[in-house]
Amino acid sequence: MSQFWSQRVQELDPYVPGEQPQNRQFIKLNTNENPYPASPKALAAMSEGVGAELRLYPDPNAHQLKQSIADFYQLDQDCVFVGNGSDEVLAHAFVALLKQQKPLLYPDISYSFYPAYCKLFGIEAQAVPLTDRFEINPEDYAQDNGGIIFPNPNAPTGVALPLEAIERILQANPQSVVLVDEAYIDFGADSAVSLVQQYPNLLVVQTLSKSRSLAGIRVGFAIGQPDLIEGLERVKNSFNSYPLGRVEQLGATAAMQDKDYFEACCQKIMATREMTTQALEALGFTVLPSSSNFVFAKPPADQSAEMLYQVLKDQGVLVRYFNKPRISEYLRISIGTDEEMQQFISVLKAI
Ligand code: PMP
Repeated sequence: MSQFWSQRVQELDPYVPGEQPQNRQFIKLNTNENPYPASPKALAAMSEGVGAELRLYPDPNAHQLKQSIADFYQLDQDCVFVGNGSDEVLAHAFVALLKQQKPLLYPDISYSFYPAYCKLFGIEAQAVPLTDRFEINPEDYAQDNGGIIFPNPNAPTGVALPLEAIERILQANPQSVVLVDEAYIDFGADSAVSLVQQYPNLLVVQTLSKSRSLAGIRVGFAIGQPDLIEGLERVKNSFNSYPLGRVEQLGATAAMQDKDYFEACCQKIMATREMTTQALEALGFTVLPSSSNFVFAKPPADQSAEMLYQVLKDQGVLVRYFNKPRISEYLRISIGTDEEMQQFISVLKAI
C-alpha cells in the first residue's frame, strides 16, 4: 500500500498469470501456449518487417489485419476490432459494453481476469455457479443483468457449450451484450461468429495467442455488428491509438491468411489431447471433456492436486494449479507436443 495510490488502486485484485520461468528449462504446460511455432509465413513477414520503416507509426486502424480476419470469417471489415491481445480487447469491451446499471454475469469458475476488470472499471458483477458437471446452464442466465460474459470453451475447465445453448442465452437477453470469449475455440468447439449477423447483442472475442502460436506478439480481435465494434473503437481511441505495432500487424495478417498451417496445427494438438486424456485416465485421473488445448484433470483420491503440482515442478514439469473453491482438487495441463506429453506422463507414473 502506498499513500499515493488512488482509492481504486488500493482496492484492485490484479490477475496473476501463470509463471514464465527465466532461469530453468521446464516442460511448460502451464499457460496454454502452443508447442508449435507460428506459421513460417507469419515469421517471414515479421522478419521482413524489421527495417527502417519502424521509425514510422503503424496503421492505427490495422486495415490489412482486419481484412484478413474478415476474409477468414467471410464478413465485412466493419464487423472486426483488433487489439493488443484479447485481454486488451476484453478490457475495452468491459468499458464500452459491459459496464451498465445492472450487474454483469459470469460463471463462478471461469477466466479470473473478469473479476479483475470489474474492480478496475467499477463494474458490479455476479458469479453464476456452473452445474455439478462444470457446465453452463443457459436457464441460469435468464435473469436481470447488465451484460453476460463467459469463455467458450470455458477456462480452466475446457468444457464447451453448444451453439444452441448460446442462442438460448442470446434470445433470453436481447437487452444485454453477451460476450463469448473464444480464446480456445479452434481446438474443437463451434464458433459463435456464425451467429453474429443474426444477433445484434453478440460480441465474439478471439486471440492469435493459442491456435496461431503468437502469444509473443499479443494480438486479439472481436467480431460483432458494426455498432458494437464502433463502441470498442471509441474506447480504443480514447486510450491508445496504436495498440498493434507494424511487425505485429504483418505477422498476424500472414498467420490469419495461412489457413492450411493453422488447421494442421490444431489437428495435431487435438490428437495429442486425446492421447493425453487416455493416459491420464489409465492412471486413475478424472478428466473433464476438453474442447481446448488443455485438460482439466483430478488426480485419484489418494493424491492431492496441490502436492502433485509441486512435485511435478520439482521434476521439471510446470502445470497450473488454482487454489480456489470447487477446483482446488484439479490440475490444468496445457497440451504440448507428443514427446512433451509422454515425458509428463512418465514423470507422473514415477511419482
Ligand atoms: N480469455 C481466456 C479465457 C484466456 O484463457 C486467455 C489467456 N490467458 C485470454 C482470454 C487472453 O489471451 P491473450 O490476451 O493472449 O489474447
